Amino acid sequence: MSFLDKLFKKKEAPAAKVNEAANKVADGIGKAANSTVKAAENVAKAADGAVKGAVDKVATAISSNDAKVTHTLEAADLGDLLPGAPSGGKINLAIYWAAACGGCDVSILDVNERILTVGDMANIVMWPVAADGKEKDIAAMNDGDITVSIISGAVRNSENEHMVKLLRQKSKLVVAYGSCACFGGSPALANLVADGKDEILNYVYTKTPTSANFQETYHKGNPVIPQTSYKAPEGELTLPVLYDTVKTLDQVIDVDYYVPGCPPQQETISQMLKAVADFAYKGVALPPKGTTIGITTKTLCDECPRKKENARITEFLDPYQVNVKDGVCLMDQGILCLGAATIGGCGAKCTKVGQPCRGCYGPTAEVQEQGASMFTAVASLLPILDDDPICDEEKIIKIVSEIKDPLGYFYAFTMGKALIKKAVKETGGQ
Ligand code: SF4
Ligand code: SF4
Ligand code: SF4
Repeated sequence: MSFLDKLFKKKEAPAAKVNEAANKVADGIGKAANSTVKAAENVAKAADGAVKGAVDKVATAISSNDAKVTHTLEAADLGDLLPGAPSGGKINLAIYWAAACGGCDVSILDVNERILTVGDMANIVMWPVAADGKEKDIAAMNDGDITVSIISGAVRNSENEHMVKLLRQKSKLVVAYGSCACFGGSPALANLVADGKDEILNYVYTKTPTSANFQETYHKGNPVIPQTSYKAPEGELTLPVLYDTVKTLDQVIDVDYYVPGCPPQQETISQMLKAVADFAYKGVALPPKGTTIGITTKTLCDECPRKKENARITEFLDPYQVNVKDGVCLMDQGILCLGAATIGGCGAKCTKVGQPCRGCYGPTAEVQEQGASMFTAVASLLPILDDDPICDEEKIIKIVSEIKDPLGYFYAFTMGKALIKKAVKETGGQ
């Protein structure tokens, strides 16, 4: 029985009531967002209309026959160290970061000493964070010469776009590695900034305390923002063009496999390397195109060891405000946890140590809209049913107003794939 089924069965809430509850949450969230600082006003504008629409859409998304269906693999260890070079010769492996923080690159080292033997299996033809390998070297290769390209990060600027298209052209297989590549990740929250790159550049280079001080000191009255082209006596210097919208990898190129997580966890990475190694060493068929590697078919709640009572939420608390009890569901303790709206696979890494799930493995296979799915889950736990003594709207708004940065919380990793209408219109990146 699903999480929502259990909730609805417990209270036997009619669907109309749940919809009403969801709309009240959306209203409250919109009002909460409207009361935040100026930067958040743009988010609130997007939220006011869009969240209501998204909440309405969630029931459709949950049950839709069109919902994305992914093939899944159970997590598995890599097993023994890789046994020297494959008999057919080394494969070519490229690892690239687009709009990424570098955490995904570092996470690959989480396979511990096995990383050393990846060198036996593969020629690493590009890995900007760890090895040489230039764009011109890749451009000189024949199409299909690279066996696998593992790409982390979203697509945020012209360089990202050029490189991922080049790697796609040269690679037999492309893996979207990490939440930014799979779903847009935290960079995609920039899609909620109404005036896009201009507003972002202006804020970063003139309003943040350090840049404001710098501009005031050195460019009094005439702040300098980096340009994408500068004609120097020696020739033209260029920088990548920042785009207005942040895209997921598969919104720009064809992707063969997905590896979610921010960053992917050790078990997930091992599963990915095992699939590649089985192919390279034993000729084992690769998983079907479109496979999301290292996830389960259930929600994170199903692999979380904490016991859930589905207590009604009367306030939201940050983990630091709570003396977190072992073994008890964090939601039951008032801590907002996205486990109900997140696919399993990470082994409940965060909730095991008393931190709420923020949803980095993305939505379950049945839904496209992780954030709206969580809005509905929260609405189902609010004390708003007729037989509850505290069900007035004022109280509900007060409770949901305690959710800080609601869009940032519910869509921390998946805004790039969200159904919520983007606030920004792409202007062509110029
Ligand atoms: S998914 Fe997380 S760790 Fe990976 S690049 Fe994005 S922000 Fe960094
Ligand atoms: S702590 Fe989070 S993941 Fe664990 S059961 Fe509760 S809601 Fe689900
Ligand atoms: S518990 Fe949630 S946020 Fe933490 S690693 Fe797992 S999916 Fe990501």
